[in-house]
Order: sequence, then structure tokens, then C-alpha cells
Amino acid sequence: MRYSTLVQFYQRLESTPKKLEKRDILAELYRQCSEEELPKVVLLSMGTVFPSGALELGIAGEMMKRVIARVSGTTDTQITKKYKETGDLGLTAEQFLKNRKQSTLGKRELSVEKVFENLRKLPEIGGAGSQEKKILLIAELLSSAEAAEAKYIVRTILSEMRIGVAAGIVRDAIAAAFGKDVKEVERVFDFVGDYGQIAVLAKNGRLKGEIQIGKPVRVMLADRAPDLKEAMEEFEQSLLEWKYDGFRVQVHKSGNEIKIFSRRMEDVTRQFPDIANFSKECIKAKECIVEGEALAIDKSGKPRPFQELSRRIQRKYDIERTVKEIPVQVNLFDLIYLNGESWMDKPLRERWQQLAKTVKETKNFRLADRLETKNYAEAKKFYKHALKMGQEGIIVKNLEARYQPGRRVGYWLKVKDILEPLDLVVVGAEWGEGKRARWLGSLILAAKKGGKFVEAGRMASGLTEEQMDQLTKQLKPLITGEEGKTVSLEPRIVVEVGYEEIQRSPKYESGYALRFPRLLRIRDAADKGPEDVNTVADMDKLFKMQKRRR
Ligand code: AMP
Repeated sequence: MRYSTLVQFYQRLESTPKKLEKRDILAELYRQCSEEELPKVVLLSMGTVFPSGALELGIAGEMMKRVIARVSGTTDTQITKKYKETGDLGLTAEQFLKNRKQSTLGKRELSVEKVFENLRKLPEIGGAGSQEKKILLIAELLSSAEAAEAKYIVRTILSEMRIGVAAGIVRDAIAAAFGKDVKEVERVFDFVGDYGQIAVLAKNGRLKGEIQIGKPVRVMLADRAPDLKEAMEEFEQSLLEWKYDGFRVQVHKSGNEIKIFSRRMEDVTRQFPDIANFSKECIKAKECIVEGEALAIDKSGKPRPFQELSRRIQRKYDIERTVKEIPVQVNLFDLIYLNGESWMDKPLRERWQQLAKTVKETKNFRLADRLETKNYAEAKKFYKHALKMGQEGIIVKNLEARYQPGRRVGYWLKVKDILEPLDLVVVGAEWGEGKRARWLGSLILAAKKGGKFVEAGRMASGLTEEQMDQLTKQLKPLITGEEGKTVSLEPRIVVEVGYEEIQRSPKYESGYALRFPRLLRIRDAADKGPEDVNTVADMDKLFKMQKRRR
């Protein structure tokens, strides 16, 4: 498919705010695609080239400006000036490329495949000279692009499509294009996690929501409860489990083959050969999928801070050494597949009984600490013990509930002592003063509302020099503009923030600000990305909850 054809669809999508119209435009587009084109077109229509946006392209505004300047024969300064007017580097590229005085003779027509292929290569490029290699890949596209095509290529790379296409519309469009039921498409998403692949299955009449060993299942999530008492009253039969502060892993075992997936369905098998070995040794079943929380532990088995585990997740080389340096322990809490059969529709009680039968426990691969009780005093003791052992709190689970992939359905309720920390994305920052002038300090944080990020306060304290150093390194390439000491940033980095109270504030678009915010951790991209941050609706809920507490 020509990229210009896709661009015509982008333009139609951008010109209407109506969701139903958008759905029909997308359905028309998807129907036009061959089987090979379809998965690529579906992802590109969502403004990405990776399912669930899993891998970031790692290209920031500054680099983009340089490429546009180079291809259009202007200067960075002119680009920056135009960008200040338009607030959109896509539009900026379009305007400059329109005026390009280059001969178009012999110019190749861009295909969807070519754009897809070049963008896919971007995150793989690392090491010396990687910047230049990335610039060349983008420049190659922009030099063959018509002005309108350039606009959308730039927007795709920067993850700012501005065509109002969210996952829900894509789901509905796939259903409409191939005459399927929306519910069915959504269910398959729980297992496949990629609308590109799902569209192909729908086109071929092979849409089946089935768990498959080796393919990640979207994980079930927990809701928050105001306190232990309310959480316990919620269910007829409840199980209390420690809520470990670690990294969620979904382990797939098929014979001697092990795959490990993160909460965001990323394959992290390579980073955790030790977990793969524990699984081979301790899971007494031919085929099985179990879930648990991985913690970094010290020699005596005590949990180490999350930051240490984070090093394990990020480490791509020298893995054997980090395995020795930072041993992990997996605390298992669910079983969702066993020997050719899905266990997701069975009640938690049965899943737990089977989990206990299937796993031979060791110090590093063990069942999560749990207690079945209706007695509040006993529950409270269990909860306090979890806190004393350095964990976050507990999760109260409905023993009669099925496993609900990808959803917070109120069957799991987390109870924590401190007010729920928030995951927020960093959208701006301020350069420090004096000794701290080389660091970005005071962070401007945002929550999600609809499809965009809205500011929800600032955080200046609680950052150690080491954290400021790390953050500055991560944030600097994301700068999109500077005004005085304040920089605006592409929303990529997520931080977990603790605070004393959520306050109403007209100063920020969310309507809220945080009192005494402090940095708890910088999130790892495999764990939580910008699409996983808390919403303003979450803040509304917490705001009401804290009022009830007083
Ligand atoms: P949150 O990230 O605050 O929504 O809490 C849910 C996360 O807690 C899950 O994704 C797991 O990574 C983690 N977790 C820790 N212990 C448990 C447990 N016993 N059961 C379920 N999730 C747990």
C-alpha cells in the first residue's frame, strides 16, 4: 500500500471528532488491506509500529528538529521558531518541506512497508554513532516523503498523532470491518495483546479467544480499598495475600522451554535465566502458566529495594553476573493454565489448590504468604506483619472469582497503609540552581484524562543527587522546548509519587495538586509506561477516600 493512501485516511480521521465516523473510516481502511499489510496498517493507524506501544522509538523532539532541518535545507533555529508557533513538529515539517526547492526527479514513492520497516529499526540501534544512524533512517523517509506524508511520519515517531484514534475505536473498527462481535474482539485481545494480529485473525475467520502457551496473557489487576475492614466485607470468602513490592512475572512452561513475561506483556526471559531454571526445577507439570511477584533478595532472604531489581530488568548484557549479584525470589499467587487446559474460568480457590500441588517450593520459588480468614483481628495481624516485613500491604481476593485478564473488576482489592501512591508522567522540569544547576530538579507531573495528559502538580523534594543525575540523563533527550529555566518534556518517564494529601487546585488542569509529594521510584519502562499512569478519575476517587478517612 502506498503511504500516501494511508495519509488520506489520516486526514479524514483528523477532520472528524465523531467516534462512529472514525470507526467507519478505519473499517474502510482495514478492508482495503492485504493480509501482509493489515497488521502494519492497524498499528500505524494507532500511531505506533509496536503492539501496545511496547517499545518506545526513543526519538526526542531535538533530534527530530535536526532531521527536519537537514532534509528541508533550513536551520535548527528556523525550525525551533516555527515549532514555537505551531506547537507541532509534524506541521512544522510539512510547512518546511512544502517550500523545499529540491528536484523531485527520481524520487521514490513511499510505501507503508518502507515506513514501517525504518521505524521498527529505530529502537534496535545502539552504541557508538547510533544518533547518526537513527537520523539517517528518518531522513531517508522524509526525503522521499511528500509534505503531507512527512507530517504524519514525524508525528508517528514522536507518538503524537492527533487523529483521535484510541484502542477502543480500533477494536470497534476491526469488528465492523470483518463482521465480528466487539466483545469477541476484545476477548481475543486479552490473549493476543496486539490489534494488528487480531485484525488478521478476524479477516481470516480465525478469531478465537484462547490462551496459548508461550503467548502472554494480559494480567488481572487489583482495585484499591479504603481499608482492611471494607475490603474484607466485600466478599463472602476471601483470601488475604501479602502485596509484594516487586516486579510481576508470568511464567510459561512447556516441557523444558520457559518464557517469562512482564506485566506489560514484554518478553523478559533473557534477563531472568535464574527464574527460568527455578521454573524448570519446581513446576511439576508438563505445561503450565503461573504468576507471581519477583523480588530482589539478600543472602539471608530479606527483600532488597526495588531499585536493585530494576537493574536486573534493564540489564541487557553481562546477565550472568547480575544474576549472581542480585538474586531474586518469586512469590507465586496464581495458576491460569495447566496441561492443555485453561484454568482462568475456575474459581481462585481451585486455582490456588492446584498451584500448591503443582509447585515444589524452594527459598527462591515459593508460594505467596497467604491467610484465609473472616476474623478481622487475625487479618489485621497478618497485614501488620506484611508491613513489618517491608512489603506494601496486602491484597484481599475473592476466592470465588475467575481470573479476569487485563481488568480491574473489583475481585482483588489492595490495602495499603499509606495513601495510595500515584504513578504520574513527567511533562516538564526546571533546571536547579547553584550546585544543582546541571540537574533537572523540580518535576512537573501529569495524570491521564481522556486521551491526553493534564498537569497534576509539581515535585521538588525527596530527590537524592543520584536520582537527579539519573533523571536528568533520562529527561534531557526528551526536551521539546525551554522557557527560562523551565523545560517542557515529551511524556515518557513515569515516576511513582508518595504524598500526604491530594488537594484541590485551580492552578493545574487536573484540578488537583499533591501536598508534600516525594519521589518513591522512577518506573522502569517494562513495568509502567505513560499509558499506565493514574487518571484524574483515580485522583477523584482518592480525594473522596481521604475525606472519609479523617
Ligand atoms: P498496583 O500496581 O498497585 O495496581 O498493584 C498490583 C500489582 O501488585 C500487581 O500487578 C503485582 O505486580 C503486585 N502484587 C504483589 N503481590 C501480589 C499478590 N499477592 N497478588 C497480586 N498482585 C500482587
